[in-house]
Amino acid sequence: MNLIAAWAPLLDSLPMAGWIIELAGQTVVAANPEATRLLESPVAELLGRRVTQWLATPEDIAYWADIATGRYAPLRSDSLVCTPGGGTLPVERHVQPLPGGAAGVPTHALVTLRDRSGEQRAEDEREAVVAELQATLESTGDGILVTDLEGRVRAFNRRFGQIWAVPEELLEARDSTGIHDWMRRRTLDAEGYDRRLAALRAAPLLSSTERLELVEGQTVQRVTRPLWGRAGPQGRVYSFSDQTELVKVRALSETLSSHDALTRLPNRTLLAEKVAEAALRWRREQQPFALLVVDLDHFRRVNDSFGQQVANRVLCEVAERIGAALRSQDVLARIGGDNFAALLQDADQASAQKAVLRVLKVVNTQPFDADGTPFSLTCSVGIALCPQDGQALDDLVRQAEAAVRRAKAAGRAGYRFAEPVPGGDAHSHVRMVHAMREALKAGHFRLHYQPQIRFRDGAVCGAEALLRWRDPQLGEIAPAAFIPVAEDSGFIVTLGSWVLSQAVRQAALWHEAGRSLTVAINVSALQFRQPDFVSQVADVLAVSGLPAHLLELELTESILVEKADEALERLQALDRLGVQLALDDFGTGYSCLGALKRMPIGRLKIDRSFVAGLPDDDTDVGLVRAISQLAQALGKRVVAEGVENEAQRRFLAELGCESFQGFLYAPAMDPASFERHLPPPRPRPMPTAGGRHIRLVR
Ligand code: C2E
Ligand code: CA
Ligand code: CA
Repeated sequence: MNLIAAWAPLLDSLPMAGWIIELAGQTVVAANPEATRLLESPVAELLGRRVTQWLATPEDIAYWADIATGRYAPLRSDSLVCTPGGGTLPVERHVQPLPGGAAGVPTHALVTLRDRSGEQRAEDEREAVVAELQATLESTGDGILVTDLEGRVRAFNRRFGQIWAVPEELLEARDSTGIHDWMRRRTLDAEGYDRRLAALRAAPLLSSTERLELVEGQTVQRVTRPLWGRAGPQGRVYSFSDQTELVKVRALSETLSSHDALTRLPNRTLLAEKVAEAALRWRREQQPFALLVVDLDHFRRVNDSFGQQVANRVLCEVAERIGAALRSQDVLARIGGDNFAALLQDADQASAQKAVLRVLKVVNTQPFDADGTPFSLTCSVGIALCPQDGQALDDLVRQAEAAVRRAKAAGRAGYRFAEPVPGGDAHSHVRMVHAMREALKAGHFRLHYQPQIRFRDGAVCGAEALLRWRDPQLGEIAPAAFIPVAEDSGFIVTLGSWVLSQAVRQAALWHEAGRSLTVAINVSALQFRQPDFVSQVADVLAVSGLPAHLLELELTESILVEKADEALERLQALDRLGVQLALDDFGTGYSCLGALKRMPIGRLKIDRSFVAGLPDDDTDVGLVRAISQLAQALGKRVVAEGVENEAQRRFLAELGCESFQGFLYAPAMDPASFERHLPPPRPRPMPTAGGRHIRLVR
């Protein structure tokens, strides 16, 4: 009793629940007000009860059993206390035997219970947050690794393990050293990797993005940022993304944008750069240069007699032969179907002439071979000189092309130098433009429509409008003959407006007749650049009542080259109108992945020159595959043109193209013939009051 009285003030002043337990009976002999609050019972009810009535975990029971056998030791751990309501409460329970009896043998013990329910809740919440964080980590496509400042692994997600192919046992054991060592050994430049990591560790605030090459050929991008705690940086978060495919596609797109896909020669863009450099050298060092334009004579005959595949092989061989006839510092480029251009560095009239004679010799005097059939082919060459004929690529090409035309007019297989004054060509050009103006007035132009077929269900889902010109005397004149002249002279703007309104009217008629399909028109770069082009499209749509999404504009890659920002704005305005946009002749031009990605262009049209060699020509197969991958990476759909046989169709279908057009299904035809390829019209909902009922007019 004395003892209890002695302990009483201390017991009452404890900030937590406390009991004095009499060890012989293990019963409560004193309790403080906090204890009555915690156990929701008055002191009187607590007194005389056995301690194990409240503290009944296996650990507590074992402890009190030990006490009974005279083993007196303190006990401190987390436990549960039974509440009168039948529940439990988490507590930190501390038992301290109190020396009292003879020879200091404990007779009593002080038990304190600290309520941990608040902490427990916080801990539960923390666990939930951690679980959420883990789920977040797992939901990203990137591999995530979190370390502390010393590099010890704190967390990672599954994708991290996949990207680095980290062995499961290292991950399970969270073996920091093992994991780091593994990553180091998998990078191609292990020393550089070490150096970077050391630099990052030395600068905990540093963020960085870099690319790692792995030994298996993968490319992984590593982004790292500091992990912030309340007291400053606590470690690092690394995120890894596998960019192997992206890097491949980028490299390919870079080559595509500066090189001709068929011959692998530089294209016009790259040539323009080289000419600009040469012009600079002229201004600085007075080093003259020459530009040749090489045009194959009657190349269409090769196309017609042997097919496009052989024609493509011949073009490659021509490229090789011309290349071999030039010096290593000269630049040979392909600037059109059967047009090559060569920049001859440091060349005056005499040395240019010698080079041309070598070119004529290798092309004109040695036979070519078409699958065992020898045939001869000749070329004509035009030569423009800097500084006499100009310094810019366009001027030089124009001059050289005029010279080629004169060489051809003089019987082909020869060469001509540019003439300072434009000669007879200019007259025929002017005559042609005049004839086109008259033809438009006289109604000699019309549109034919080539069906586009959806691979998924074989349905005709669209039509490309193609311009036709029939002259009463001369007969049909091919677009390839008059479109370039129309473009050169600017008449294409007038002609293009006519095509736009004509095609939209036809599309509206089909739409009103319940035969909705997308009608695509070809838009020239010059037409696209007209300040009122967008409003013109909007007006034509408004007048016709055609839903905008049923009109598709086929644009060429050249619109993306000059004034790309302006082009982007215009494309976005058209996109807002709701019209569809496609990139025509994809792969032949200048497309740059960066620009293309930003453009609201939905479809890429694979040029028919690539389709021609499918599925046997390895170059075409590779190119078409690459284009389709590129399209996928950019999120664009793919249309193939020039599909002439079943093997080509099957190849493109398997590649995942969306639709195709070509002679296999049908050539372009007049609207009446076109309609025979459409299923019978679906009945359309009744027109609203005042709506017109239009019969299909041809
Ligand atoms: P494009 O835009 O590449 O048009 C496709 C051309 O391929 C058309 O030649 C079409 O008749 C032809 N074609 C279609 N299927 C096949 C096939 O299976 N095999 C082969 N070998 N050829 C096929 P087309 O009509 O002679 O037009 C030539 C080019 O003239 C067009 O090339 C386009 O650039 C231009 N063009 C035609 N109409 C217009 C127009 O209204 N406006 C503008 N700006 N250009 C036009
Ligand atoms: Ca086209
Ligand atoms: Ca094309």
